[in-house]
Amino acid sequence: MKPNIMQSMPRASAEAASGTLRLDTPVQFVKGIGPRRSEMMSAHGVRTVADLLDYPPFRYEDRTQFRPLASLRDSEWVLTRAEICNIGGFDSHRRRISIFEMLVRDGTGSVRLKFFNQPYLRHVYRSGMKLVIYGQVRRDTYARGLCFMNPECEILEEEAGSSVHSGRVVPIYRKLGELRTRMLRQIVYRILANLRPETADPLPSYLLKQLRLLPRYKALAQIHFPELRSMSPEGRVKEMEQLNNGLSPAHKRMIFEELFQLQVGIAMVRENRVRLRKDRTILLGGTVREAIKKILPFHPTEAQKRVLKEIADDMCSLHPMSRLLQGDVGSGKTIVAAQAAIIAVENGLQVAIMAPTEILAEQHYFNFRRLLEPIGYPIDLLKGSLAAKQKRAALQSIRSGETRIAIGTHALIQEGVEFENLALVIVDEQHRFGVIQRNILKEKGNQPDMLVMTATPIPRSLALTLYGDLEVSVIDEMPPGRKPIETRWYQEGDRRKVSDEIRRAVSEKHQVYIVYPLVEESEKSDLRAATEMAEHLRMKVFPDLRIGLLHGRMKSSEKEQIMNSFAEGELNILVSTTVIEVGVDVANATLMIIEHAERFGLAQLHQLRGRVGRGAAQSLCILIGEPGESLEARRRLEIMCETNDGFRIAEVDLELRGPGEFIGTRQSGLPAFKYANLIRDRKALELARYEADRFLKLLRSRPDEESRRIALAIRQLWMDRFGLALVG
Ligand code: ADP
Ligand code: MG
Repeated sequence: MKPNIMQSMPRASAEAASGTLRLDTPVQFVKGIGPRRSEMMSAHGVRTVADLLDYPPFRYEDRTQFRPLASLRDSEWVLTRAEICNIGGFDSHRRRISIFEMLVRDGTGSVRLKFFNQPYLRHVYRSGMKLVIYGQVRRDTYARGLCFMNPECEILEEEAGSSVHSGRVVPIYRKLGELRTRMLRQIVYRILANLRPETADPLPSYLLKQLRLLPRYKALAQIHFPELRSMSPEGRVKEMEQLNNGLSPAHKRMIFEELFQLQVGIAMVRENRVRLRKDRTILLGGTVREAIKKILPFHPTEAQKRVLKEIADDMCSLHPMSRLLQGDVGSGKTIVAAQAAIIAVENGLQVAIMAPTEILAEQHYFNFRRLLEPIGYPIDLLKGSLAAKQKRAALQSIRSGETRIAIGTHALIQEGVEFENLALVIVDEQHRFGVIQRNILKEKGNQPDMLVMTATPIPRSLALTLYGDLEVSVIDEMPPGRKPIETRWYQEGDRRKVSDEIRRAVSEKHQVYIVYPLVEESEKSDLRAATEMAEHLRMKVFPDLRIGLLHGRMKSSEKEQIMNSFAEGELNILVSTTVIEVGVDVANATLMIIEHAERFGLAQLHQLRGRVGRGAAQSLCILIGEPGESLEARRRLEIMCETNDGFRIAEVDLELRGPGEFIGTRQSGLPAFKYANLIRDRKALELARYEADRFLKLLRSRPDEESRRIALAIRQLWMDRFGLALVG
């Protein structure tokens, strides 16, 4: 060894050269990974040995049992061991095909191996070599007997005791850039063989003991190269099943780790909030109470009164509020939000209301102006598509404090938006904002109170995760006199029945919605569908009825005018794109017709249906849908006909789509899990939450070196993943 050279090398590479890898060793210093491969890997987020170990196989194959050749059957996947006894093949230049063939045999029989267009194999194999072969058995179409086509083969060295690719349970990886499973298997194997075992575990040692979890290093080794413990065939099958479902003991350890880190982070956000103090006093004097009463068009339900009190108490308390207002469609969340806004405004403070899309922001703008008309607060709408001049005026008015309630999309959280004294932030969640966006908006004020409204109920397992940093208020009671909506699923052939229902509703002096899917505001074809349908109905089908058209491309003033005339009962039918998804509120409308219902998601269907059933009369929702081959679409339509229960629908939605989709992708602020599945692992999720609270208590009362290290690592993780600094 030449010490001078070694010293000039980076430490990590020096260690790699001496055969010891550390978790933070860059992958390029692993044998078999050169600069080109390491560059490609880093493009896929794999930079260090630790990153590569965090790339788990997505399935496993049991290659421990070699099958005698005589026992092979057509079309099964098998692992077998045999000796090459004959080599041949031919090239057909005319058909531009080359076939390389080998005949292999064991003590029981023989089989042919065929390789297409890999002429170089000729130089790899020789008679007498012993092979491990893995592949699918086929009937040989050119000769009698069985064959393999392009099987995976490994040459067995005479004295090789253990092999990477056979004689064991082997991991199968998804391709990482150009790196295929076989190469990855080789590299990971090498890493594990040369890795210095880490003693520092990201889970507290008392938890490893109590929950009987494997240490991280061992778990990872088992995840990449599992060893089956059972001797019996049934036992082995069961273990393989666990592995392939990602539920082996090693997987469970990793699942718990992910969930624990998530829950500790959320608990830290929560802890942080309790530590904050507001420097304003909010009073609930007579004028506030009067203003609140003044806007009430009806008696609030007990549930509405209860949640308003919870919100008011929070607003008056020393600590900033972080509260989730949960309630099914039509349960009456809007009025509660408006009342909360009144409390802030009457105390001389500003309110911001944030919605996930422009259309929803406009709806809220429309609704709040109507609701709060009796007290006449200045309300402003801030959205991306405002002309520069209007935008400047709105910003100025928000900054000066003249605007009491600012409503908008995420434009509200962009730079340049300043408030005079923002004290209450209401977020219409719709699953699209996560912990992070909520926190950015908070920064705009001085410890503002935060109320998050969810239009679709969220299953408890997920609520814990997404909203673990929030207190929860639930409106679990519908306004009085509601009848459950009946839902039917019709197909194109049932058009007559649909017209009959429209006639019937109109003859009973009720009103009708017809909705067209509009996935993107800019999708012209859908726009055309709605426009054409409105025309068609007007001219051909119901020339005697008054039919209005509403879509997102219309000016705000036009939309407002149409919605107003529908609300006033001047229109019989409102043909619309999904503009009306949220916010339109006409109790006299009793028939909802949803065209192309197969294209809508469950949450959206439930929202749309919630536009009817708001008065005392029986309402009907007709889904016109042709799900075709899609079982998922069929299931969506079926569940809609089965139930009106938003929680049940949300559960099914979650099952059908998985949590990532359910919440909306990247924006959700929910980390992508490698091992955990929030639905499947909900028990583990709750356990993790419990243990996270216990861990934090320990950390606060008697911190030791280990708990400090673990807490620090979790803070780092949240910073890396979300850019969110957890204090304390
Ligand atoms: P959501 O919770 O879906 O936002 P809304 O706030 O839009 O529900 O309320 C649904 C409908 O119920 C509206 O027409 C609203 O005026 C009405 N409503 C809300 N609360 C009551 C109540 N206590 N009594 C009667 N009607 C109510
Ligand atoms: Mg609503």
